[in-house]
Amino acid sequence: MKSEIVNPDPLALKFFTGAEDMFWKRSEQYQNITVSDLSGSSGEVTISLFNIPIHHSASDQIDYLADSNIGPFIIEEIFQTGVNFAAIKGFRHASYYCFNCSKEINISGSRPETFEFMLTYKKFPPFTVKIKLPAVICLNCGSLNGVIMKGKDVDVVQAVENAFRSKGVEIKK
Ligand SMILES: [Zn+2]
Repeated sequence: MKSEIVNPDPLALKFFTGAEDMFWKRSEQYQNITVSDLSGSSGEVTISLFNIPIHHSASDQIDYLADSNIGPFIIEEIFQTGVNFAAIKGFRHASYYCFNCSKEINISGSRPETFEFMLTYKKFPPFTVKIKLPAVICLNCGSLNGVIMKGKDVDVVQAVENAFRSKGVEIKK
């Protein structure tokens, strides 16, 4: 009987046994880094993170985010490049405008959509961000706008935090 050959994830292989000059192999600081898939929700926002770099501390047996700035980095990228959000104008009565053509959009037709993108932070391996939130297509230009209701952008921050907490990953050592 032939034994089965299990092909390891090419990324993990590169990560752990790859080129000698790789940053994380040489650096004491980045030893014992593993990757983890995390998911969390808040309000209408669900965030899934794939291949997030985790540092397992042998001394206290706790998993830490490999770099405490990864959280803020993810949140910033969601708002700046990951999702094209409709612009919000007005104080008492908020109106929503297409990110692309600036025409007003009716958000009553928004429904959950998933946006997915890849990020690389410093010299860590790339990881994937999937974010599900209400979105609506602009009737003027056909662009898909992410819709975060006025004052609800905190849900994005909370969802990222909940994702880390989902597997007990501590943010800072
Ligand atoms: Zn538009």
